[in-house]
Amino acid sequence: MGTVTLDGIRKEFDNGRIVAVDDLSLDVEDGEFVTVVGPSGCGKSTTLRMVAGLEQPTSGRILIDGDDVTDVHARKRDVAMVFQNYALYPHKTVRQNMAFGLRMSTDLPRAEREELVRETAEMMGIEDLLDDKPGELSGGQKQRVALGRAIVREPDVFLFDEPLSNLDAKLRTTMRTEIQRLQNELGITSIYVTHDQEEAMTMGDRIVILKDGELQQTGAPTDVYENPANRFVGGFVGSPSMNFVDVRAAVTRDEVRLSDGTGRFEYRLPAADYPSISDGDALTFGVRPEDVFTAEPASGIETAVEVVEPVGSDNYLYLDLGDDFIARVDSDVEPDPGDVIYVGFDESDVHLFDARSGGSLAFERGEPTPAPSA
Ligand code: ATP
Repeated sequence: MGTVTLDGIRKEFDNGRIVAVDDLSLDVEDGEFVTVVGPSGCGKSTTLRMVAGLEQPTSGRILIDGDDVTDVHARKRDVAMVFQNYALYPHKTVRQNMAFGLRMSTDLPRAEREELVRETAEMMGIEDLLDDKPGELSGGQKQRVALGRAIVREPDVFLFDEPLSNLDAKLRTTMRTEIQRLQNELGITSIYVTHDQEEAMTMGDRIVILKDGELQQTGAPTDVYENPANRFVGGFVGSPSMNFVDVRAAVTRDEVRLSDGTGRFEYRLPAADYPSISDGDALTFGVRPEDVFTAEPASGIETAVEVVEPVGSDNYLYLDLGDDFIARVDSDVEPDPGDVIYVGFDESDVHLFDARSGGSLAFERGEPTPAPSA
């Protein structure tokens, strides 16, 4: 069992000159796999280190399994942390590395500890490495040992701090799947910090997005992808990034016309669907590259293709509609740079953000109220 609750935690450094984490509240359910993601310096590691007990919050409380552990020493918390740099003892063998944490955190007799280490090593496929020292292992093997060392302790909570960042791309993908499989099998509550949004989206039951120490949004990966709370989340989640165009709204009785003021970009929406938009509002229009499609001249927006970037199954077309405005189209759509094409987007794929606050208009509006059933 291992729920984790962060209750309004704040962490200051340098006498308050740096606020690394700002009033963060979060409930992690027992057995849940939560990924924490955000740009460098957003407070991910500091948050994790506070859960581990390696940093003390300036204010706020941390509860594990309902118990307030804010003032409990790291060694007394039933958590196991896996670090990016493996943090293995170089002079100990794999067996000794794995047994060490067990010796510190339990009073199991030696024979039982050895049996647990052997079983876990087998589960991790590293039983042949038990007598090797870390210096003799590859990066991937070291990370397996570090994971094995965490698993053997059967903690209430796993904390992962960018554990795969030192591995090459292929190994990273393999290890991602492996960590997910192990977590599923063991059902241990996990908080996984990464700066890689793709890793966060593919691994997490739930994703937590931070910026400047503040929570931006939390939710299931698909919900966050489809309904970003603000422009930052819209741009951070998804690859290539969401396209943005700064627009002004002109509202008539029937329609909301969004234009960028240069004549390059114009899009019309039914006014009835957007009652919160007023004439003259400054907005940011957002659409994901995969939601931009080529259209007929009669219905599409005319634009020039600047660059064509083939990525195998798809082509990325950089369009003259804004900075780095990309259409992700099938690889058989192959215009030449300079060609004029027409593109469109479905209204359901359009995201609108307040230009000043960055907040999503849809998110503020909330889910549409379901029609009463007959
Ligand atoms: P990264 O992905 O680069 O590791 P992060 O999101 O994990 O970044 P943190 O390491 O938590 O971010 O740092 C958050 C902020 O707190 C940063 O501005 C960082 O410089 C600052 N910070 C972290 N630890 C300390 C410390 N011990 N002393 C002073 N400032 C610190």
